[in-house]
Order: sequence, then C-alpha cells, then structure tokens
Amino acid sequence: MKNQQQLEKSKDVMERSRKVFPGGVNSPVRSFRSVGGTPIVFSHGKGKYLFDVDGNRYVDFCSSWGPLILGYSHPKVVEALKFQIEQAVTFGAPSLLEVELAEKIQSWVNGIEMMRFVSSGTEATMSAVRAARAFTGRNKFVKFEGCYHGHADQFLVKAGSGLATLGNTSSAGVPLGTTQDTLTAIYNSIESIDEVFAKYGSDIAAVIIEPIAANMGLVLPKQGYLEYLREITTKNGTILIFDEVMTGFRIAKGGSAEYFNVTPDLWTFGKIIGGGLPAAAYGGKKEIMQVVSPLGHAYQAGTLSGNPLAMIAGYHTLCELEKENAFDKLEQLGKYLDQVVHNKLINYIEKAKVCYVRSGSFFCFFFGTNKAPQNFSDVEQTNMNMFNKVYHKLLENGIYLGPSGYEVGFLSLAIEHCDLDKLVAVIHNELAIEEI
Ligand code: PLP
Repeated sequence: MKNQQQLEKSKDVMERSRKVFPGGVNSPVRSFRSVGGTPIVFSHGKGKYLFDVDGNRYVDFCSSWGPLILGYSHPKVVEALKFQIEQAVTFGAPSLLEVELAEKIQSWVNGIEMMRFVSSGTEATMSAVRAARAFTGRNKFVKFEGCYHGHADQFLVKAGSGLATLGNTSSAGVPLGTTQDTLTAIYNSIESIDEVFAKYGSDIAAVIIEPIAANMGLVLPKQGYLEYLREITTKNGTILIFDEVMTGFRIAKGGSAEYFNVTPDLWTFGKIIGGGLPAAAYGGKKEIMQVVSPLGHAYQAGTLSGNPLAMIAGYHTLCELEKENAFDKLEQLGKYLDQVVHNKLINYIEKAKVCYVRSGSFFCFFFGTNKAPQNFSDVEQTNMNMFNKVYHKLLENGIYLGPSGYEVGFLSLAIEHCDLDKLVAVIHNELAIEEI
C-alpha cells in the first residue's frame, strides 16, 4: 500500500479547484480547513476501499457521510442503476419506482402514513418545518444547539451559552428576519426545553431534533430525554420532528423511533434512501402531510424530486440491508470495535486522554476527556488539536474518516475486523507518542 504522503495529483486538482469553487470545494468540510493539509481528491471506490488520484488506497469510514452503508459500488446497486440509465434518468412525472421505495420505507418505519420525496436533507427538514407551521398555524420552532439540519436560513442559528435564546444567526447572509422564529435549546437538558416552552409554549409549531446527535461528534440522548420531548410537545400541541437523515435506515430498520421506542409526528430522511444518489424525504402523520400542496396550501416542489436513478439505488440498498440482516451484522461489528477499544485503549481512557462513543454503526473518538459529551459545549471542550494529529496519522496509514473532529465515523457492511484493529492501533500509537 502506498503512503498518503504522495499527494501530488490531489494538490494539482485542488489548485485548479480553488480557482473555480469557493475554498476549492462544493461543501465546506471537504476543504480540510478543520484538520489542515491538502484535501484528498478521490478517483473511485470499491467495497470498503477508496482510491485517490495519486493511487493511494484508504479503508473508508466516511461512507460519503452516511449513504454508502453497503460500501462502494455494491454490485446490486450498480446493476440496477445501469438498467435504469437505459430506461430514463428523469421523468418529472409520477413513476412506479417512487411508489415502490415509499412503500418499502412505510413497511420499515411505523408511522409514515404519507410522505414526499425531495433531493436533499436540507429540503426535507425545511419542508417538514413548513408543514408543521402550516398545520399548527404557528411560526416558532425549536432546534438544539449542535444539531445540524441542513443549510436552510432558518436552521443557521446557534444558541448563546447556557440559555435558550431567540435566533442569532451563525452565518453571514442570513437576515435576522428569517431566524427570529428559531428558538434554540441545549441538547439533553430538560431544564432548557422547559424554559423555552414556559416562555413560548403556545407559539411553538415544532421541535426538531437529531434523536442521536451525529453532527457534533456523537452525542447520545440521555435516557428518557426523547420521551420527555414527546410528552412536552404533545402537551403543547407542538409537532415533534425526528431528523433521521443520519440515523434513518442505519440505527435500526425503523430508525431511532424504533430504537428508542418514541414516535414523532414527522420524520425527515436522506442519505441511505438514495443509495448514494440525491434523494431525501419527509413524512409522517397523514393529517399533517395533507397540508402539503397540491392537497393543501403549504407549497413544496422539485424538478428532480423522486428521481428514478435515486429511487432505484435507494430501493436496492434497502433490499440488500434486509437480505443481509444488516443491523445485526453492523451491531456485531460495533461490538468488536468496543472490545478492541477496551483492550487497547483502556489505559488512555482511564487517564482521560480519549473517550470512545458508539451507537450502532456510528462511532466517535473524543480526545482530552473520558466523559461522553452530553451537549455541544461539552464537545467544544474536547481536544480538537489532538483529533487533527490522529486524523493525519490515520490518513498516512490508509484510513479515511470525515475530515473534522465534529464528524462521526461510519461502519459499513464492507468493513472487516482487521480494519477496526488497525484503526485502534493507529490511535493507540499516536496517544503513546504524545505521552513521551
Ligand atoms: N439533517 C441531518 C441530521 C444531517 O446530518 C444532514 C447532513 O449531513 C442534513 C440534515 C442535511 O442534508 P443534506 O446535506 O443532504 O442537505
């Protein structure tokens, strides 16, 4: 295996890229701004491997940020896509494919009475909040600090420390007017959500949450927290939205709702349901979804919504997950990782040098602590410089993770035990070097 230090071609492509794209990328984290160094330019993937333009090979723990739960170029998905390309790549009209995928989703997730396909997770969350606002006739909604719901204006808000606050935008170009109805609360804090409801209860259309927060590293909900949100939203006539763009079809067949046995009113999905092509969805209770046009007056549309290529890739991805008994297999892989971490890193965990969090096929290493973060401010206090050092060591050893300490690692069905051994060994070695 070549070593990643040879990145000449990646550097050349990035030089051209910087002339045509802001920061050389089409999505900010890809720029390596967080971890430093040159972004790797990939040429192709196969199974668990990613290959870059210089010919280096990496075991992939990023899965294109989640969708590739089967690994790269799964033969069944490739075959289905080849077939569909010959039929039509888009209709802009109803198709059997979108009905088949929707029915499959309904059969997996209990409570999706009606749904709509869109092309990105951002569209899904934006549209779900719109439906909730239309249904309740209220404007305000609550999001949690550190949860990411895409880049629609209304979500680009960060809470002030310790207090539930009214929307201060955290991005230039987002007028205060668009975020004035965005309320923020602290993840896992009952006090914080109580405070928001005490102040704005009857004006709150929706509470949107990542049931497992996977955009601030990995933060798990405290026991009873999601149940509490279910209770307080029901009491206040507020729509509870589970943003399962990350967790959907990954954490369990029925997503977080099944995993935690808490049923929201609306869901948002993305990533896996397009099998690596652009597809996402929102849906849930029929009485709410009926407000969406053309049945109702909440307008929402999309030229490529229900795109046949994305629908067929998503459908076959779900079929393979079913066939492979994927969630059990992924949990077994996860348990193996737990064991390797315990065997190799216990010493460093005891010394509070590293903390390991896993849920299903998500995993995360936080450095400079041994306490699993409960919220965004806990995550901010972890040692991101150490993450960056470890990150580059992993790359040098042919292991690819999303380039930021605020991202999670993903296990795919293509990953093998030896890959997990190597992942932990590299982290162990770097922690040992730091001790000297
Ligand atoms: N919601 C969650 C939980 C996400 O993780 C993401 C993206 O990572 C989104 C929404 C936005 O999805 P997209 O990038 O497809 O717009």
